[in-house]
Amino acid sequence: MERCLGDTNQAGSVRIPFPQEQAWLEAAQTFIHETLCPAGSDPDVQLTQSVIDCVKTTWLSQGKNQGFPLPLSYSFVSVQDLKTHQNLPCCSHLSWSSSAYQAWAQEAGPNGTPLPRERLLLLGTLTDLSGDLEQESRKGDLYVKDNTGVLICELIDLDLSWLGHLFLFPSWSYLPPARWNSSGEGHLELLSAPVPVCPSTTSPGPPSPLPVLYPETASRLLRHRGKLRGVQPNLAGKLVRVSALVRSQKKAHFVLSLGGGSSPAGSHVSIVVQIPAQLVWHRALWPGRSYVLTALRVVRIRGHCYRVWTTSPSSHLLPLKPECVRELELELDGPLLEADPAPLPTPSSSQDGDREPALIRHSTLLSYTGKVTGVLSQPAGLYEVDGQLALCLAYQQFHSLRKVVRPGVSLELQDVHLLQSVGGGTRRPVLAPCLHGAILLRGFSCQKPENQSFYQAQGASLFEQLVWERQLGLPLYLWATRALEELACKLCPHMLRHHQLLQHSSPGNPSLGLQLLAPVLDVLAPPGSTRRNAHKEILEEPHHCPLQKYTRLQTPCSFPTLTTLKEEGRCRAWAAFDPKTLLPLPESSHLTSCQLNQRVSWSWLSLLPATSHPAQILIGVLAASSHKGCLQLRDKSGSLPCLILAKHCQPITDSRFIGCLVRTEKFQLVIERNVRSNFPSYKELNMTGFIQKQQARVYIQFFLADALILPVPRPLLHSATSLTPQAEPTLPDGPHIEQSRLFLLSHKEALMKRNFCVPPGANPEVPKPILSFCVSGSWLGGTQRKEGTAWGPPEPKGDENKDQKVLLVFRGSSVRWFEFLHPGYVYRLVAPGPPTPLLFEEGGPSCIPQRALELAGCASCLTVQDEWTLELESGPDFPAGPDTSKALPKTSLDDLLSGNSSDSLVSFSAEILSRTLCDPLPAPFWAKPGGTRTSRASVKLTVAVEAADCQSRPHLDIYIKEPHLPPPLGLLPGARVYFSQLEKKISRCHNIYCCFRPSTYLQVLSFPPETTISAPLPHIFLAELLQGGRAPFQASASCHIVSVFSLQLLWVCAHCTSLCPQGRCTRQGSTCPTQTSVSQASIRLLVEDGTAEAVVTCRNHHVATALGLCPSEWTSLLESVRGPGKVALQFTGPGAQPESSAKVDEPLTLFLRTLCTSFSVLRPVVLSFELERKPSTVTPLEPPRLQRFQCGELTLLTRVNPKIRLSCLSIQEPKHPSSLGAFSLSC
Ligand SMILES: [Zn+2]
Ligand SMILES: [Zn+2]
Repeated sequence: MERCLGDTNQAGSVRIPFPQEQAWLEAAQTFIHETLCPAGSDPDVQLTQSVIDCVKTTWLSQGKNQGFPLPLSYSFVSVQDLKTHQNLPCCSHLSWSSSAYQAWAQEAGPNGTPLPRERLLLLGTLTDLSGDLEQESRKGDLYVKDNTGVLICELIDLDLSWLGHLFLFPSWSYLPPARWNSSGEGHLELLSAPVPVCPSTTSPGPPSPLPVLYPETASRLLRHRGKLRGVQPNLAGKLVRVSALVRSQKKAHFVLSLGGGSSPAGSHVSIVVQIPAQLVWHRALWPGRSYVLTALRVVRIRGHCYRVWTTSPSSHLLPLKPECVRELELELDGPLLEADPAPLPTPSSSQDGDREPALIRHSTLLSYTGKVTGVLSQPAGLYEVDGQLALCLAYQQFHSLRKVVRPGVSLELQDVHLLQSVGGGTRRPVLAPCLHGAILLRGFSCQKPENQSFYQAQGASLFEQLVWERQLGLPLYLWATRALEELACKLCPHMLRHHQLLQHSSPGNPSLGLQLLAPVLDVLAPPGSTRRNAHKEILEEPHHCPLQKYTRLQTPCSFPTLTTLKEEGRCRAWAAFDPKTLLPLPESSHLTSCQLNQRVSWSWLSLLPATSHPAQILIGVLAASSHKGCLQLRDKSGSLPCLILAKHCQPITDSRFIGCLVRTEKFQLVIERNVRSNFPSYKELNMTGFIQKQQARVYIQFFLADALILPVPRPLLHSATSLTPQAEPTLPDGPHIEQSRLFLLSHKEALMKRNFCVPPGANPEVPKPILSFCVSGSWLGGTQRKEGTAWGPPEPKGDENKDQKVLLVFRGSSVRWFEFLHPGYVYRLVAPGPPTPLLFEEGGPSCIPQRALELAGCASCLTVQDEWTLELESGPDFPAGPDTSKALPKTSLDDLLSGNSSDSLVSFSAEILSRTLCDPLPAPFWAKPGGTRTSRASVKLTVAVEAADCQSRPHLDIYIKEPHLPPPLGLLPGARVYFSQLEKKISRCHNIYCCFRPSTYLQVLSFPPETTISAPLPHIFLAELLQGGRAPFQASASCHIVSVFSLQLLWVCAHCTSLCPQGRCTRQGSTCPTQTSVSQASIRLLVEDGTAEAVVTCRNHHVATALGLCPSEWTSLLESVRGPGKVALQFTGPGAQPESSAKVDEPLTLFLRTLCTSFSVLRPVVLSFELERKPSTVTPLEPPRLQRFQCGELTLLTRVNPKIRLSCLSIQEPKHPSSLGAFSLSC
């Protein structure tokens, strides 16, 4: 034995092996017996010797063998060993010197890592059988097989005669499956031709020349019937094309085309290969070489009119040796087939072409050889070739290539489509092979595959679905793959697992990713288009496939991350911020510094998705914050607060939306801007230096009804909601143990910081106010226990007559339920865990001051524990929503506007007209650095109260002060809001206003309209204003200025509003920082329109219009007042002498007096106005008074209506003065 295995040196004498060699040889012997000899047989000495000889020859062939006749540093490796122990990619090159390996490794380039070299000896049988099963398991793949197993392999130039023989593989790479993919299989890349262990005797050629047909004859033969009965001719020719290997569920096939060397280019013949044992030919075929295919027959393809050549089970593929063949003589003058397939129906006929819109582009069909330089997306089959082209393999079935293709791989692409400027965000030209052309491997990569993370490999089957089921064209496919990757980056893995987003879509289990894209894809590529037909795509001439024509894609939409959205919104809001636009001239020129800064201090902007290109689509997971109590959309980048309405006027009540994926194209991105500034006057408004601080609050408003809501599979729910994992109760496996109780919510209080007593046993530190809210309601029935999946019957209550009213306190993380609780709805309070008696009965550890309980009229209160949950209860007994008429109790308009303060809590719906920040002036806030100002500021909302029975919408001011600041989301001009339990107050001038209080509940009913259409004010007769609260609050009237009551023009210090004669502030001990003064003006006019009279007050720039002065006249009038600082005129009545603060005979006074009594002032006008006083004093109308008039000797007593007091909004000259005639009285 030893002799057998020993080495015969060059001299021919036997050398005794060294102990090392001895050990190596023994190991080899064992390995060969176990791994390569037929199982259960005795050691095969001859085989063993052949293997060792083969190894030695190969080893010595590298030249530098380090003085050893045996590769002692190499060890044998079986297929099983590779599979189980080789967890890292590696390569082994028995025949290579280290310098050869170095040179090869250099190809990896600076960015790639070459495969590490292991010293392993691999032997095995090359086969196309994956297992012991026959035929059926042949799919055209190639394997290396030994006694321990099989391993799929790739080989560049296969010789079919190698199949079934034992080989030594001198140079190979092994790539194990990705670490996460435990079920995956590794594969082998055989870098050089295998070395046969037992050199096969070269089979002699056929004894006599083989009769063959050449392509031209063969293709003519297809058109003759009956000539070939019983004959299976052989075909010879040069291989001009190989199609892709097409695998369907039933069978696999490919098509090869042979052409004649001298025959015209068009004359080639296609041969369909679909016998499983012949599929492996696909790896052996090399375009440009000549072959003979034996024993062919003609078949008609089902569903097609043409006939093709196909192989029979006894067919062989042989290299063409001209000396071994002779042309078969055939007489071909028989009749042609009736259905001559030659003039094939051309689907893309010229008529078709004429109708095509000009936007349709045609791809170029070409052949390309290049090297893969990058992986753009492996699951989507997208690669970079030669640094500048994209390669999309998705339109072929490229499963086997997916493993091999990586940077460094050389490919030959035959008949590949080149698509240029496909749009949709893809810039480079794209090479995309369809089934017609083959992707031929021309060189393996020396690079280690990039450490592919689990998620990078996800989605392959979804991407396939996009091409093969949704039939997306290439531009849209590229966009969709990128969009899906973008979505994965946005959401995975925190919100969703990659496999959840990118899973294959099946009818019962649709892919989340596809659902998110579907609305866009449905528009651009409506589903249900025809499926691809492989036969047609490969065989039909002219060629027809999905890659042939395309249109440039306009990027349909983008899915910005929430952080991007927030930042973009913020940037756009500040870019659009311009105090001069917020305060246009001439209004701003009359404002004092304080008024200016107040008006600049709050503003808002709403951005609509349609205003960005491409349109933005909002995607996030809905969460309820347990810290802030607000709703949020979250993605991996961050979160955005949001205000959500289920639909118009309907709040969000169903807490099951928590954790759902939300997608909407209709939303408003709201940016509220808070600015602290110290502009001295309007002249400095464009100087940004006066802005001291700016802050923006960004949030989103949308209707759930406009959104796509996708539930996320359960196990992840907790990570998507605001619940911290600790707070999530650890539920035992099996049925959940829970108990619950129903309650009807009657009132909800504001979410704010409140003080609570320390529960016994808790940290006895000084309690800090904590964010909390309470709801009051009543229990509906007793506690119920979970029985299976349903709730059991309610437990009988201890005392049926006991008051069922309850106050529920939400604090800590249970504030997350705030946005879901609304009056009028029935909720189920669910407590997990084993049944606890009286769990929902008693006060528990919470401690509400007794007075609060009394106020709420509740007998008991209960603190909602962190782990408890709330569900909206809807069913036949409890309709999902409250009866809208009952739901929102409203104070009647009369009660609301009455001066009677007995009922100080009021509720109403209103539209917000304006929102301003006001602070307790006059302390100059810039004198006091620090945040004192913000703490004392309050927000004033001016609202138009909606009353069902009346078109007039009285205006009210609502003040929001600490601790209700910042105000809740959505209190924006234009929004409609329901306010409940506001505190009504009456000012010293008998105006009614409201204030927020802790019990205030508010519900936004609708968002500000996306486009503001300013409806013209109603045109009325003044007498209509005497009809009490039924008249509109703002209106316009055509009337006549009868007389001027008073006129005042003054210059005040812009800072302290003291009078400024000669432009100097007169304030005692003035320390005003600037000597800027602003003009202010007011005029009181008597107007009438034939139905009633009204006193109108016009201020500032409206005075100019009232006086009929043009801007330059107005400016010079104001300038002339600057000297005295003030001019005030009082007119006691029509025709009466004016009383003036200035001397009567001063020219200025004289001028004004003349002006105010001239027809240029006393004239017909169109007046827009609002009621001067807030409704409180208007509604309880004073009755007409009896007034005494002296008319000569006579004293007349007549009823006079009280004068209506109006504020001027604008004055316009009448368009048709004559039309006023009917109502205007001549003066
Ligand atoms: Zn094609
Ligand atoms: Zn001053």
